[in-house]
Amino acid sequence: MSVKIGGDGARAKIFIETIERMSHQQILACYQCGKCSAGCPMAKYMDILPHQMIRFVQLGLEDELLGSEAIWMCVSCLTCNTRCPKGVRIAEIIEAVRQLRLRDNRNDHLDLHRLSAGALAELPPIAVIGSMRKGTS
Ligand code: SF4
Ligand code: SF4
Repeated sequence: MSVKIGGDGARAKIFIETIERMSHQQILACYQCGKCSAGCPMAKYMDILPHQMIRFVQLGLEDELLGSEAIWMCVSCLTCNTRCPKGVRIAEIIEAVRQLRLRDNRNDHLDLHRLSAGALAELPPIAVIGSMRKGTS
């Protein structure tokens, strides 16, 4: 498998931050030891192995990861979580990727944390409520 690094850096950064926020995990904590993949009962059915999925997130390879079959092969058994020496909860990261894949217009939601207090005050309340719902789905 060959992986290209680069592309749209800003988009990659948003992708990484989104996955970190949704999964409550630090993506860079993974140092690619591969123990998660070695213990995964579904690894033989995956086109991208669990430790490679984490690497794809680290590199901001959003389209490649969201288009993979592996994210749907994971059965959330949590074996990977128990094997990680860095305490990375891989299953939660994969679940976040699945959630992102299922969302339509996934990057167009309102990020309330990026708005100034003035901008927030100008927004209609339903825009804020809708944004919060979308961020917690
Ligand atoms: S939770 Fe998913 S990735 Fe982790 S070991 Fe189980 S099937 Fe593999
Ligand atoms: S076991 Fe943890 S540190 Fe090792 S590759 Fe998997 S996520 Fe990364």
